[in-house]
Amino acid sequence: MGRTAAHGGGLRLVLLGAPGVGKGTQAAEIQRRTGVPHISTGAMLRAAVKEGTPPGQKARAIMERGALVPDALVGPIMAERLARPDAGGGFLLDGFPRTVGQADLLDRILAERGQGLDRVINVVVPEPEIIDRLTGRRLCAACGATFHVRSNRPRAEGVCDACGGALRRRDDDAEAAIAERLRIYQEQTAPLVARYQRAGLLLTVDGRGRPDEVFERIASSIPGLRG
Ligand code: ADP
Ligand code: ZN
Repeated sequence: MGRTAAHGGGLRLVLLGAPGVGKGTQAAEIQRRTGVPHISTGAMLRAAVKEGTPPGQKARAIMERGALVPDALVGPIMAERLARPDAGGGFLLDGFPRTVGQADLLDRILAERGQGLDRVINVVVPEPEIIDRLTGRRLCAACGATFHVRSNRPRAEGVCDACGGALRRRDDDAEAAIAERLRIYQEQTAPLVARYQRAGLLLTVDGRGRPDEVFERIASSIPGLRG
């Protein structure tokens, strides 16, 4: 990983983009290639809900209807996560920041460390395709593998190809919650695109096509990403 060493601590990246554009898929590939930790607020919050921790109990109903968990709850979780040693050598944020307040918090955390972001990757997919992707998405409850009822069908209906686990729909992939998530994205998160554009950090990438095609578009603009 020559790039990581030359960079003095690894890449610091943010994945921006509406729900359903494939941020999680791209994040997993970037982590695999570079070794920087993939930090997903959605995954951390879902884990907190599952464990029934106090923040998880507060977040549960909010997430189910597709709304954003308050900054006051997400902020401390992220500050703590970014302070862990593995994030000192670079990170890949997926689902954070999602509001102006969260972006301000991230700026403050990085400024204290004398660091900055390297790139903000904005993955873009037209809304009708997003809705198709999310309504058809199915996840393995056991191993987390994702499938799609039309475009990436499991060999046996409702059964994970990888581990045999049961496939289910994420609670917030119900139609009403999807509409709410897209509305909130436009209202609260889309303004961050202009902010990072002004900061000279934005890389906008077409999220259509196969995951490996999307990855190539990202990697062709960020040296060192191919690992
Ligand atoms: P998606 O990007 O497909 O909406 P995520 O897994 O990133 O999926 O997020 C799922 C849900 O978790 C969001 O709808 C929201 O309720 C909550 N969430 C995740 N990240 C944040 C965040 N940074 N701030 C507030 N809520 C968040
Ligand atoms: Zn599985």
